[in-house]
Amino acid sequence: MSARRYLVVGAGLSGLSAAHRLRELEPSAHLELWEASARTGGWIATETLPASRLGIASEQALVVDLGPESILGPRSEAHREEHAALGLVARLGLEDRVIRTRSDRHGAYVVSRGRLARIPEGFSLIGPGDLVGFAKSDVVSLEGKARAALELAMPARPRAPSDDESLASFVRRRFGWEVLERLAQPLASGIYGADPEILGLLATMPRFLEMEAAHGSVTRALIAAARATTDEVGEGARYGLFVSFDAGMQVLTDALTDRVRDALRLERAAVRMERDASGVEVIDDAGRAERFDAVVVAQPAHRAAGLLEGIDREAAHALAAIPHGSAATVTFAWRREDVPHPLDAYGFVVPRVERRRILASTWSSEKWPDRAPAELALVRVFAAGDDDLAGRDDALLALEARRELADLMGITAPPRFTKVVRYERAMPLYGPEHVARRDAIAARLAELPDVALAGNSLFGVGIPDTIAAGERAAEKLATG
Ligand SMILES: Cc1cc2nc3c(=O)[nH]c(=O)nc-3n(C[C@H](O)[C@H](O)[C@H](O)COP(=O)(O)OP(=O)(O)OC[C@H]3O[C@@H](n4cnc5c(N)ncnc54)[C@H](O)[C@@H]3O)c2cc1C
Repeated sequence: MSARRYLVVGAGLSGLSAAHRLRELEPSAHLELWEASARTGGWIATETLPASRLGIASEQALVVDLGPESILGPRSEAHREEHAALGLVARLGLEDRVIRTRSDRHGAYVVSRGRLARIPEGFSLIGPGDLVGFAKSDVVSLEGKARAALELAMPARPRAPSDDESLASFVRRRFGWEVLERLAQPLASGIYGADPEILGLLATMPRFLEMEAAHGSVTRALIAAARATTDEVGEGARYGLFVSFDAGMQVLTDALTDRVRDALRLERAAVRMERDASGVEVIDDAGRAERFDAVVVAQPAHRAAGLLEGIDREAAHALAAIPHGSAATVTFAWRREDVPHPLDAYGFVVPRVERRRILASTWSSEKWPDRAPAELALVRVFAAGDDDLAGRDDALLALEARRELADLMGITAPPRFTKVVRYERAMPLYGPEHVARRDAIAARLAELPDVALAGNSLFGVGIPDTIAAGERAAEKLATG
């Protein structure tokens, strides 16, 4: 019998993970990985720049993650085994290259009435995980704190397992509008690049609904979770909340690329697919048709929809209906003496009510070790969720980001380095309708024995989710 022929379409993190898993499961199969662009990694890209190019006499290069910059670690050591990213890191032999956030900095700021204020100690994305820290902060008013305290005695709202509500509605109902407006909204938007009013809680952060169901009070559950983490860290757990790699996120996609290099076909896009009893025919952008026994589709939903149109029209239309948001990052390097702020945190987030042009800023040189020579501060700004983002050119985005940093951090000197990157329709927005849509698409695709969907369209946008989606797709198709 001749070797089975597999195709993975798209060499972003998810497609690379699928191809790598297929290689692990069926080393003798024929494997191809088509990538429309000239490089692998998709949104993951790291630029390394010698400091000498910026007039700094140092051997230490600048390591600039242009897109994703961190991986959320496992919830606790008990969840480590099932963490797809750490599992993959171990199989790739990359454990020694994993880095944790700098321990000589901590926490982050939030813009509060025009200035940077510390996010309350222990605040955990949507609610307080430390009541003393929350009480001491002035980001939320006394009335707001009193309202949030009522959460401790609030019973869980009964719900059917598939009922969803917006993240904003959940926070408003449990903690009040002020916690939403001043803390939960900017923190969630900093991650999803979208307003929590349009994000479904079950689709994005189901653990908070689980907390409500199991504990009644989400505050109590957050406090218990914070204690468990402190105990683990006290016991020397290896992974903190976020991890990255010594030379940036591209370490991961480069290592995956090395494992499947012979399968890689760069600048080859799939444009159409058809299937019959003997397999799947895929047509590329040069009009060539090739047959495969099974295909993994690993692109954003709106592109995957085009490919699946000839295979399952209903699934394709449901995929095409998933809304996507655009984003941009602007990275600057300044000489440290040009930055009046002490940079004593990992960055800041910006509530919508503050009416600014940016959503968040990561102080990369303070968050991660060895990202820049000691003479330089590396500051990245994130803009998204803005309808007119596409209408502003790179120069304007950089100017707006500089204006905001001048106002909030007092940085007025010209930067030594500026880099703007745009991410058009990059982030799928999981609204309250997503779970029903996701389950319907998954059910239809489950009927197809030779086509699998990877990527971030259905089961999570985070890096561990995207890896898991790629690996599950490979496991569905492999017969070895
Ligand atoms: C700005 C930004 C910051 C982020 N930050 C984080 C973070 O810090 N932590 C985190 O966990 N997540 C983060 N995410 C989310 C995460 O990066 C993504 O969910 C993930 O990288 C998606 O990987 P993917 O392989 O599914 O898709 P992609 O990276 O989009 O890869 C798809 C690939 O398919 C190729 N392709 C498309 N069409 C075709 C075709 N027809 N034929 C062949 N190839 C094709 C594309 O060129 C691309 O290389 C961020 C996302 C963005 C946009």
